[in-house]
Amino acid sequence: MSTLRFRALEIAIDRAPVKVSPPSSKISDYFGINVFNKEAMQKHLPREAYKAVMAAIEHGVQVERSMADLVALGMKDWASSKGCTHYTHWFQPLTGLTAEKHDSFFEVSDGKAIEHFSGNALAQQEPDASSFPSGGIRNTFEARGYTAWDPSSPAFIIESASGKTLCIPTIFVSYTGETLDYKAPLLKALHVLDKAAVDVCQLFDKDVNKVHATLGVEQEYFLVDTSMLNSRPDLLITGRTLFGHSPAKGQQLEDHYFGSIPERVYAFMLDFETEAYKLGIPLKTRHNEVAPSQFECAPVFEEINLAVDHNALLMDLMEKVAKRHHFKVLLHEKPYAGINGSGKHNNWSLSTNTGKNLLSPGSTPKSNLMFLTFFVNTIRAVYEHADLLRASIASASNDHRLGANEAPPAIMSIFLGRQLTNILNEIVEMVPEKKMTADEKTALKLNIGKIPEILLDNTDRNRTSPFAFTGNKFEFRAVGSSANCSNAMMVLNTIVASQLRHFKNEVDKLMEKGDKKDEAILKVLRQYIVESKNILFEGNGYSEEWKAEAKKRGLSNVQTTPPALDAYVSKKSVKLFDELEIFNHREIEARHEIMLETYIKKIQIEARVMGDLVVNHIIPAALKYQTVLSSNVESLTRIGMKQDVYATQVDMITEISEHVTTIKLKVNEMIEARKKANKIENVRDKAVAYCDEVRSYFDIIRYHVDKLEMIIDDEMWPIAKYRELVNIR
Ligand code: ADP
Ligand code: MG
Repeated sequence: MSTLRFRALEIAIDRAPVKVSPPSSKISDYFGINVFNKEAMQKHLPREAYKAVMAAIEHGVQVERSMADLVALGMKDWASSKGCTHYTHWFQPLTGLTAEKHDSFFEVSDGKAIEHFSGNALAQQEPDASSFPSGGIRNTFEARGYTAWDPSSPAFIIESASGKTLCIPTIFVSYTGETLDYKAPLLKALHVLDKAAVDVCQLFDKDVNKVHATLGVEQEYFLVDTSMLNSRPDLLITGRTLFGHSPAKGQQLEDHYFGSIPERVYAFMLDFETEAYKLGIPLKTRHNEVAPSQFECAPVFEEINLAVDHNALLMDLMEKVAKRHHFKVLLHEKPYAGINGSGKHNNWSLSTNTGKNLLSPGSTPKSNLMFLTFFVNTIRAVYEHADLLRASIASASNDHRLGANEAPPAIMSIFLGRQLTNILNEIVEMVPEKKMTADEKTALKLNIGKIPEILLDNTDRNRTSPFAFTGNKFEFRAVGSSANCSNAMMVLNTIVASQLRHFKNEVDKLMEKGDKKDEAILKVLRQYIVESKNILFEGNGYSEEWKAEAKKRGLSNVQTTPPALDAYVSKKSVKLFDELEIFNHREIEARHEIMLETYIKKIQIEARVMGDLVVNHIIPAALKYQTVLSSNVESLTRIGMKQDVYATQVDMITEISEHVTTIKLKVNEMIEARKKANKIENVRDKAVAYCDEVRSYFDIIRYHVDKLEMIIDDEMWPIAKYRELVNIR
């Protein structure tokens, strides 16, 4: 094994940057060439079919089957002209990866070979996906699930060395109609949000008839050389290192953040960016992150369904392209202990058909009241459903990051910045419960009118908040880097939609009782601000004081995934999902079960890999070195040396024995804990056992292994060390 490590080092040191040549120096020359976008549709579709797709994109109108036939024909035309031979329904099952099942356009008809693609094949497909997680839904009812075309996200072409494939974004549902993927519930949530937000917008602006959510995703990731990776079975299999002593020069100097991007990495970035541009993914920024070998990229924000698809596609793309550069992309939230983890900041806002960003303050009191309405309702939604929002980002891997004093804590709180905090306080003080006098109204109007259009400078950078207002959008920072962010976004849009409905109802009620519109709006907003003030926090979210303070305020701080997931199936959430028709009771139960099972599997795999590595790699290496030490002592004794000459060696021999003994003992105990957990029937109890019992051995075992790493001869250490993994040449 240690020979593998040294070979890997030699290979990694010798690597040169791979040469990358984008199709043109102007990105606009090839941006979106592999997307069946408006331009391509106009060229390849008859007018009526084009209109049908546009109506589906803009207003969610269903595309009729006869139109689907025309779209399929045009799409095949376009794809064939680009050299595609196959097509696939592209979907996002709950495994968290994207999935594809390829079919050929080629068909045999009357003994003759033809190229064919029907509206049927476009609209629906049975991917025979019985091995995707379904939380028992498909077992009890119908074994098959099918995928159905989502016309609101354009089809695209994936190029690979062996050919090109037309990919059609789809939802994945069981034969009896229950959702089995990430996209379907997101689309439902967006639909409800649109309606609820338009109703509220109508209070201010009659021209608004469509509201869509926008999302800009900042994706953090680590890179590691593939040869180094291959000497680390833990990193290879679980996506994170289960052992490893912190490097002497880790993050302490934080010099990586400002440093220039290494050549090899730069080539990789250029390469995946080029591929992303062809797919219409509008990447905008790239830079080093705080930790060594950690990087980030972010696109310009887009309509949220498209942005989610683009992020999923981007993660795939990065992994594929990385191979060409002998890198592995680590999307795991915490590949290395003691080094910052990775997140996926979700920048979210709402935008109208009239081009207004609803979370951007305007220049008049009226438009600012509209801004305040959406602003305060979002705050109220997060306050009301903080536990559900926490659940939406829960995963075995994100547990390492939340609350680890480097990422937003598991306590949901909202940062607003001083200026907006003041404005909310003023509203509470100025809006009376009773009728407002004319003077009060004027004063308030003046005040609201004072909100500056550009708040960006003022919302100082409180990086420790999980949910921060950043000038013209909210930034949900607690989302994990490996997550499919539609989960978090489905929840956010659902709770905001529900909140807006309530708001509209309450305003209507006050107006029926005789309040003027503005007055009614302000009264309800005032009440919301008062009710949700506990979730507002401007201080340091990493601090111990905040944990104590949050507890006093009654905010939850759920540290681990199994209990965090409970919020999905609480009475409140079940009612919410049911009322808004996002999930019925059975669907949410099934989803909850899948998430628990995923959690169990992750910990199970980690425990196995840990046991294997320790018993078959670490302990043998330790014993080998112990033997070297013993022979040394033996020879020193033989030539008549006194005991104090080899006292250190004897100490080391003892120390190695102690660590090895403890490690072996703890591994055995961990195996027993696993066996016990496996016997538990109830999936939630089982997940808790894995979390509290099995997982608790990880740190103890790791502690002793990391100690051994410091004692044993470097040449004998079998797996790549942190310094070798994180320093990219
Ligand atoms: P940061 O300083 O956090 O890196 P940026 O201003 O660079 O913030 O933006 C981060 C992300 O937020 C980008 O993807 C950007 O497109 C996105 N963003 C900007 N405005 C909006 C908006 N109105 N809705 C959603 N995302 C937005
Ligand atoms: Mg950000």
